[in-house]
Amino acid sequence: MRRQLICANWKMNHSLQDGMDFFLKLESIDYNNPQSDAVVFPAFPLIQPLSTIGAKIGIPIGGQNLNENESGAYTGEVSASMLASCGASWVIIGHSERRDIFGESNELIAKKIIAALSGNLNVILCVGEHLETREDGKTTEFVQNQLAINLDSISPDDMEKITIAYEPIWAIGTGLASKPEDAEEIMSFIRNWLEEKFNTDIADKTRILYGGSVKPDNMSGYAAMKNIDGALVGGASLDAESFWGIIKAVS
Ligand code: PEP
Repeated sequence: MRRQLICANWKMNHSLQDGMDFFLKLESIDYNNPQSDAVVFPAFPLIQPLSTIGAKIGIPIGGQNLNENESGAYTGEVSASMLASCGASWVIIGHSERRDIFGESNELIAKKIIAALSGNLNVILCVGEHLETREDGKTTEFVQNQLAINLDSISPDDMEKITIAYEPIWAIGTGLASKPEDAEEIMSFIRNWLEEKFNTDIADKTRILYGGSVKPDNMSGYAAMKNIDGALVGGASLDAESFWGIIKAVS
């Protein structure tokens, strides 16, 4: 049985004080062992202080990105071991904003996944199509290509630390959430692909999250789907009560 996982991707939002207030608010509304898991992904400078506060209520912290190298002359970059040394236990890799704005290729994302696993981090691997790809009827082909390259050298054992987030790009930050049934169709395709690439056990155990304009009032529709194991949430995760509302919707 897969436990639902709700992830907060704060992107480039929230000061340290905002982040601390968020956790204080969660504490005050009695965040106590819900039936689902939660992870918060703040900006890099907030990771260390928030990992200390998050530990008090059982919410791990993750990075929103990492560099594929271990160390060296890469000004402005952060490695897996640096994230871990600051208390992060998770990292998001391949978010569409990294792919589209920062030009990250499928091959680079594959290297970042290897780096994250070497640093013992849990990975949220994001995949998903642009609107034109969907309109051309090529979504499954596109997602399959992302997965095939991103997970090319990953072993079944490595998959223990990898969660997949299916995020149709046209649904991110637009308010145009995918219908749960449409997301389920692609996520069922992803699970079948995992079975073919790895085995039935891995396909059964791997969590697949939906991402794209999730809110407290639409989460239960996704959680009711057989192949949707939680959500990666942007805008609606910035406010503690809204994030808690999404967690409660699956608990
Ligand atoms: C995201 O950035 O991964 C995301 C899903 O954002 P939003 O929830 O705002 O659509």
